[in-house]
Amino acid sequence: MNKFLLGTNWKMHKTEQEALAYTEVLKEAAKEYEEYQFFIIPPYTDLKGVKQLLKDSTIILGAQNMHWESEGPYTGEISPEMLKEIGINLIELGHSERRQYYNENDFDLNKKIKAAVRYGFIPLLCVGEYTEDKEYGVTQEVLSKQIKIALHGVSATDASKVWIAYEPVWAIGVNGIPADVNYVRQVHESIREVLVSLYGNETAHAMPILYGGSVNPGNALELSKQPHVDGLFVGRSAWDMITFKQIMELLNK
Ligand code: PEP
Repeated sequence: MNKFLLGTNWKMHKTEQEALAYTEVLKEAAKEYEEYQFFIIPPYTDLKGVKQLLKDSTIILGAQNMHWESEGPYTGEISPEMLKEIGINLIELGHSERRQYYNENDFDLNKKIKAAVRYGFIPLLCVGEYTEDKEYGVTQEVLSKQIKIALHGVSATDASKVWIAYEPVWAIGVNGIPADVNYVRQVHESIREVLVSLYGNETAHAMPILYGGSVNPGNALELSKQPHVDGLFVGRSAWDMITFKQIMELLNK
């Protein structure tokens, strides 16, 4: 497996000035922590400036969403063509907020994943269950459905470029309840099994599975040690470089 993945989606936070200031600090930190593959996913308006700043850095730059068509009558959307021109490396797809507030569904995500691989981006597919799914014992079924539809018709070669982020909806954000590490371990194992059933061992193990949802300096180390946790996808705790650096330092031990 490659380097441990450590990154963040800024959601609708950070003006360009804030984005540049943050990126300057992260760039320096990334030089100290070469054992991690860092990635950041700013809002669209920050991408060009941040890309400029990252030109001599190994930090992967991502966008928070993307349409599957290269152009067309889709007001308010951003195409793969536009992101390619900026030099984006990764596209986050299916964050639970996109699913919840903007009707993002697995079938459209399937088109987006195919478009992303066609354009040479790394698709970062987010999956996660609601509290009710967990309570009714159908987490595995829900995640399996999300993954199978999103990857439908995606070849093993293309799938090997996909990253999966497991982000239980109940664990995300200010009202999120941090997930128990044993639960995370079991779910990551079951996600790997789904990938093995779709693509066989080799491809399934080439696909990193990240965990996200209230990752913080108190739980990052334990989470990172779990089998099949190939990276951490950090929200709030990574938007402030002080707490993000604490996490880097902790994992390093
Ligand atoms: C997220 O929303 O993807 C996330 C991981 O957020 P947080 O860490 O703030 O819960």
